[in-house]
Amino acid sequence: MDLAKDIRACRLCAARFAATATAHEPRPVVWFAPTARLLIAGQAPGARVQASGRPFTDASGDRLRDWTGLLAPEFYDRTRVAIVPMAFCFPGYNARGADLPPPPLCAATWRARVMDVLPQVRLRLLVGGHAIRWHLGLRDVTAAVADWRRHSENGIFPLPHPSWRNTGWLTRNPWFAADLLPVLRARVRAVLEAP
Ligand code: SF4
Repeated sequence: MDLAKDIRACRLCAARFAATATAHEPRPVVWFAPTARLLIAGQAPGARVQASGRPFTDASGDRLRDWTGLLAPEFYDRTRVAIVPMAFCFPGYNARGADLPPPPLCAATWRARVMDVLPQVRLRLLVGGHAIRWHLGLRDVTAAVADWRRHSENGIFPLPHPSWRNTGWLTRNPWFAADLLPVLRARVRAVLEAP
């Protein structure tokens, strides 16, 4: 069975998306291969990613590449980096113009099965509250990220979402850039370059 192909064909949320202001159709952005060593567990594609069909082709992606020290060719090498969001499709906008949360149905349907076909993952970056909740069962993003040294011993880095909406959070928590990011970059490099 080709799991990636099955996810690309998924239309479970068609009615849900049709009822949003953008009335868009599902377009799953699927980006993984069984040889991947690094997992980037994101939230859900935004409208730009929905259009491009490639994950993180937006300002959040620019910030995430800076955080990880990965240049675009490495970041998009799916044989080494799996980018698996909590929902594979753009969820639409809420009344204030912000992205809706990822439909829980997506993770319930697909996520455990995707994790099962990524046996070589050595490092997991949990990007944002939804991924932190699913993978660690924790609801307080700041507390989870602040506890990064302990989680990193288990091959996990909880991270805030790199959206511009979190620029204030980054300013209020300068230890994130000063202490966490240098270690994160070194761990990412070590995992990708290990023989
Ligand atoms: S968000 Fe997930 S469950 Fe919903 S249509 Fe897209 S792939 Fe299917």
